[in-house]
Amino acid sequence: MAGQKESLLEHLERIAFFLDLQGENVFKIKAFKTGIEILGGLDEKELFEKIVDGSLIEAKGIGKGILAVCQEFLKGGSSSELQRVQENLPEGLFDWRNISGLGPKKIKAIYQSLGISTLGELEYACRENRLVNLPGFGEKSQTKIRAELQEFKNRQGKYLLADALATAEEIESKIPKNIAFDQLGDLGAKRPIVEEFKYLVVYHTQKPSLQLVGQKQPTDRINDAVKNKEIRFKTKDGFPCLFLFRKPEERVTRAIFETSHSDHWQSLVNAAQKKNLELNEDHLGGGESPKSEEEFYERLGLPFHRPEQRELTARSSLEKALHEDDLVGVFHAHTLDSDGDATLEQMAKAAKKRQWKYLGISEHSKTASYAHGMEEARLTEQWNWIDEWNEKTPDFKILKGIESDILKDGSLDYSDKILKKFDFVIASIHARYGQKEMTDRLLRAIENPATTMIGHISGRLLLSREAYDFDRQKVVEAAIKHKVVIELNCNPHRLDMDWSDLVWACEKGLLISVNPDAHSPSGFDDVRFGIWMARKALVPKAQIINTWPIEKLYKFLNEKKSA
Ligand SMILES: [Zn+2]
Ligand SMILES: [Zn+2]
Repeated sequence: MAGQKESLLEHLERIAFFLDLQGENVFKIKAFKTGIEILGGLDEKELFEKIVDGSLIEAKGIGKGILAVCQEFLKGGSSSELQRVQENLPEGLFDWRNISGLGPKKIKAIYQSLGISTLGELEYACRENRLVNLPGFGEKSQTKIRAELQEFKNRQGKYLLADALATAEEIESKIPKNIAFDQLGDLGAKRPIVEEFKYLVVYHTQKPSLQLVGQKQPTDRINDAVKNKEIRFKTKDGFPCLFLFRKPEERVTRAIFETSHSDHWQSLVNAAQKKNLELNEDHLGGGESPKSEEEFYERLGLPFHRPEQRELTARSSLEKALHEDDLVGVFHAHTLDSDGDATLEQMAKAAKKRQWKYLGISEHSKTASYAHGMEEARLTEQWNWIDEWNEKTPDFKILKGIESDILKDGSLDYSDKILKKFDFVIASIHARYGQKEMTDRLLRAIENPATTMIGHISGRLLLSREAYDFDRQKVVEAAIKHKVVIELNCNPHRLDMDWSDLVWACEKGLLISVNPDAHSPSGFDDVRFGIWMARKALVPKAQIINTWPIEKLYKFLNEKKSA
């Protein structure tokens, strides 16, 4: 029965939380909370006996209400009281109790005005500045909530790649300058989610120790694996680390092994066998140990695969890895006209400064009123401004676009007449309904001749919101058939469509676009995440439309428009 007491207490806490949220009688809420404390102090066996025979009521501070809930819970794992108090409220709100500074009133206010219910959505709302203008909130409280959210996430033991890279920088800043190291595992391979901060540390005569990597006060137990040349520990801030200590001659091979998916490693082993070379996790035969990873691949007769290109079997021919310089321009950016942080001019200048040749602007459409979506009149204003800019800036073009909501029936948010006026249309789902309809909604949006691309196709928010259910094969096939592009949304919370889907989808011939979904000039930095993901999936550049020369791109957009 281990853990059942915890489940019961959590159940009671849930009820207390929703009682609070419903604004019920304060004395009732207080009685409930006191009850939880008392039950928490009892030994599990004793507690359950007293619940079953009803004698729990004799304990001071325990009322009939709580006893009834406990008895019901022991029988069926839930209670009618929870159903009652949770009515009309999403259960995800319960997680918000972990964010200190957010009392029931505030939680309710955010939920009611923004319609969001998970912590991930809350974090996203903060990123998009949606709390700043809510009554009772402001810039300061938004910043605080964001910091709290971050701390909470740290406690969960899984990190978004963007967050992990920031933490890694901190860990690495402690490693003395004369010690060479490599990032391994999820971090080295740039996977969307990182679970452990894994490093290879090169040592010579020193004894492997935490001191060698600049760590002094591990809060957690250090394992006793110094013999195995490994130390696992948690940093002072609770980040799980694993350091592997290796001699210089073992470095290259071990680092490749530790960043490779098993399929990739197996293909390296096969290549070594063909050449009669010995290969294990720390050693490659055929002469002195390779000095660089490039040399390692060369010895096996293979092109160099970067760490993030080691998810699939090694290819015998591989084009030069996608680089930010390969992007001629980008689509998907928001400005102050909808829910961005900067003016259109600031965004355009920032994009131009990156040597891009165009910026495809795409505000939210009118249905997205929470994000200040564009009604027709404001669109005309923005277009006039863009026409003026384009006239005086021949070497950098702003493309007129929109991120149009895919409505419940799969139609887009404006009349065909308006849709025809855009240079491109990103169709995205922002409000969700039943899962069954998702495939049909996406298919209808793809069949709409106005649609240039589909935005964040699965709707997932990493570590917080699952992708919705839809038939990926069907949707990708339809996109290929109708020459609709599927974006690779580079926001580190999204990285959507997932790289593993890009593998098969692009093999079928899908076109993609590496889209920052930027809400500020610094949001353009996110393209690096997209580039890593495209590398993972080994997407050929010819299938990434924003690497195309502008003439080819404009021709594609125009053909789409006149279709
Ligand atoms: Zn969107
Ligand atoms: Zn967007």
